[in-house]
Amino acid sequence: MSRVYNFSAGPAVLPEEVLKEAAEEMLDYRGTGMSVMEMSHRSKAFEGIIGDAEKTLRELMNIPDNYKVLFLQGGASQQFAMIPMNLMKNKVADYIKTGQWSKKAIAEAKIYGKVNVIASSEDKNFTYIPDLKNLKISDDADYVYICHNETVHGLKYNDLPETGDKVLVADVSSDFLSEPIDVSKFGIIYAGVQKNAGPAGVVVVIIREDLITDDVLPGTPTMLKYKTHADNNSLYNTPPAYGIYICGKVFNWIKNKGGLEAMKKINEEKASILYDYLDSNSLFKGTVVKKDRSLMNVPFVTGSDELDAKFVKEAKEAGFENIKGHRTVGGMRASIYNAMPIEGVKALVEFMKKFEQQNK
Ligand SMILES: *Cc1c(COP(=O)(O)O)cnc(C)c1O
Repeated sequence: MSRVYNFSAGPAVLPEEVLKEAAEEMLDYRGTGMSVMEMSHRSKAFEGIIGDAEKTLRELMNIPDNYKVLFLQGGASQQFAMIPMNLMKNKVADYIKTGQWSKKAIAEAKIYGKVNVIASSEDKNFTYIPDLKNLKISDDADYVYICHNETVHGLKYNDLPETGDKVLVADVSSDFLSEPIDVSKFGIIYAGVQKNAGPAGVVVVIIREDLITDDVLPGTPTMLKYKTHADNNSLYNTPPAYGIYICGKVFNWIKNKGGLEAMKKINEEKASILYDYLDSNSLFKGTVVKKDRSLMNVPFVTGSDELDAKFVKEAKEAGFENIKGHRTVGGMRASIYNAMPIEGVKALVEFMKKFEQQNK
């Protein structure tokens, strides 16, 4: 068996220990005589799986008691619609535009109401987080929305916007569980788990209880009301059971590594290996201003499309997979999520050094 270093932005690398454990339990989950894929979502065994997953996540993120944890489907993209459908009482919301994913969320919210883009970094192709001081939060906004880590462009918020009494909503898909975060600052935070916590098919929504109401936009389908899922502990219908099971294992893996403080430390160490090299070499350079660089998604370019393509090709041959940048940004992007071992980052930098020497 040989595993590559997979730098994919998502679906992405998962911890090897988790995959091995799942493999061992594949045919007979703990004496049930069946795989988790085959069991009833109403069974005792699955109740344990989803209950434990939630418990561990609450512990890891220190989630206050007045927040519900929901395991939903439809990916992060479905939240782009669910959020306005459930929160837009005045049909107005403020959005900060920092890249591809906040842009998509804005486009979707416009279907349901008025969207004010109160800050944007589109003028410089989303290479920085706009100034968060003196934001003009709209008086009638139902919420303020950010994408906490823009996966495509590789930037992250180090501070949060001051939203006063307005609810802050954040898409944390690509930096979920990568470092501690103060849940109490948000009304909703959510993550498609295929970036940093599990297989595609699950989105985790952490929502403050007062935001869970029947007072949703007319025509909102039952399945798209948070209340439906909150009232039924994510078991209104068949949940993405196997995905939740793997997420639970990943949560445990993080807990055994020392939790989110420990994750942050190792993630900072991994990212600095790559950024230090990007800042000191003569061929590659990072595309994001230093203070807003993501710890998870690291975009870089040589300045020549030809050399970029050559690098991607040779990197693949050397066992570094999915290093090509997003089609809207070009160049390269190394996604170095929790499960990317530090050896993978070191090996990538060694490979980049060699390439630099050979292509001066
Ligand atoms: C990948 C991603 C999405 C979209 O996720 P889907 O589950 O494919 O809908 C949304 N936001 C961010 C920040 C992402 O990285």
